[in-house]
Amino acid sequence: MNTVVPPTLRPLADFAFDDLFVRSLAADASGENVPRQVPGAVYSRVSPSATATPRLLAWSEVLGVQLGIARPASTEGIEARVLGGSDVLQGMRPYAARYGGHQFGNWAGQLGDGRAITLGEILDREGRRQELQLKGAGRTPYSRFADGRAVLRSSVREFLCSEAMFHLGIPTTRALSLVATGEGVVRDMFYDGRPATEPGAVVCRVAPSFVRFGNFEIFAALDEDENLRALADWVIRHHYPELGEPSPAVYAAWFAEIARRTAVMVAHWMRVGFVHGVMNTDNMSILGLTIDYGPYGWLEGFDFGWTPNTTDAQSRRYTYGQQPQIAYWNLSRLAAALSGLLEEDALQAGMKVYRDTFESVWPRMLADKLGIAVQAGEEDAVLADMFGLLQETETDMTIFFRELAQVPLAAGLDAATRIAPLREAFYQADVLEGEHAQKLAAWLEAYAARARADMAESGETQAQRRARMDRSNPKYVLRNWIAQLAIDAATAGDVGGIERLQRVLQRPYEEQPEAQDLYARRPEWARNRAGCSALSCSS
Ligand code: AMP
Ligand code: MG
Repeated sequence: MNTVVPPTLRPLADFAFDDLFVRSLAADASGENVPRQVPGAVYSRVSPSATATPRLLAWSEVLGVQLGIARPASTEGIEARVLGGSDVLQGMRPYAARYGGHQFGNWAGQLGDGRAITLGEILDREGRRQELQLKGAGRTPYSRFADGRAVLRSSVREFLCSEAMFHLGIPTTRALSLVATGEGVVRDMFYDGRPATEPGAVVCRVAPSFVRFGNFEIFAALDEDENLRALADWVIRHHYPELGEPSPAVYAAWFAEIARRTAVMVAHWMRVGFVHGVMNTDNMSILGLTIDYGPYGWLEGFDFGWTPNTTDAQSRRYTYGQQPQIAYWNLSRLAAALSGLLEEDALQAGMKVYRDTFESVWPRMLADKLGIAVQAGEEDAVLADMFGLLQETETDMTIFFRELAQVPLAAGLDAATRIAPLREAFYQADVLEGEHAQKLAAWLEAYAARARADMAESGETQAQRRARMDRSNPKYVLRNWIAQLAIDAATAGDVGGIERLQRVLQRPYEEQPEAQDLYARRPEWARNRAGCSALSCSS
């Protein structure tokens, strides 16, 4: 056959779409698409709003293959129209979900899918149900005062980061396509009274379910016990079938499993230096997936106190270092919402699963990052001293950890030899002289001794140790300034930057000599540039 499309991939338009969510749960009785409170409903049926000239800008080949969907043959054909919200295929029964949430620690009442519309469900090649959801496809009953649209810059960020996280091995929602709408969207990017028109876009994101903690919170807040139980049972039956038919014991096991998955997800974020930026309870997935890529950022200089979100600059609630505690707090909000289904001791047991999981997974990840053995029990001095050093002087997290594998371990080496592999990690060259250099040298001495001792004890070879470290320390992450360069180019009509990042970020742990420019400290021009150091929620 002389076709480039493998025969097992089919065009999107040929798929049979299912609507299990819509069929199983309580619909909003009103079909009116105006912002309003929607008591009693789990979701509202709503159609995407057509846009001027939908055009496919980017496609995830890897996800397409997983779903069995062929890359659209044309950038302006039926697929682009569907993925941009201008057409709906047969069998699709689009809906927006109703949920609430705690935003920045305060109960915010009804929120809901204000600009997300699920088109339908398909079975992927492993027979797993997957929802296709458009973000930015127009108003819904949950849009409140906003327009239901999304700008190109934030859509590029969501598209690239979803797939980058997947390839890093981190639980996440996925992104299949990026479509330019051909329409302008007005945003006051800095919230300073200077609104401007930006190009609009729609991302098609994909996950088995987009249900969040907040879906349960709204039902609990308004005493909608039936909806709460129905949604819990639906999530368990279709997304946690291994737990068995819903019962008090199964609810307990379910909550514990949500807790476990959430802890694993956050530990991974900490491992790679990902800062979500808006960990409100409406942005916490019931499946333990990273969800809602908004003003997220990646640590460049290592800093527990860093947040990319300008809205959080004062309260500093969602900084890198706070993430484990915030996830725990969010889980406690879910526990409160589920208290009608679960006994207090089952909720407490689930909360403990979160703590225990994080406390066992995170030290193991750190040990892999450093190429040492996990030290059980008391505080690990090697780790404590390292965090002190990283925090003290601006040190690039990704480069520091990646190059740590190259630090020579032999006894009796001089300080300069030990430090040499790490040189590129430091933002100020003069830290390699003076007091900091001495502290760093002392730490490296202790670290090398520790690594030697651990290798002697475990029998791990240096090659095995380095491979273990390289699997844990990505070389390529979606640095904020790198994403911004791809956005700038896409805004000017060139999607080559997006495609290049897609390619490189598919193999984040591998050496890719042709991509060395993407393995670099944040350049000075990006230090204070919007989108590179600070991001607003305006998207
Ligand atoms: P987020 O901070 O993105 O999680 O959004 C919080 C709430 O605001 C959710 O209910 C969103 O659906 C809604 N929202 C955010 N941006 C828009 C928008 N442009 N149009 C409509 N609703 C929005
Ligand atoms: Mg959200």
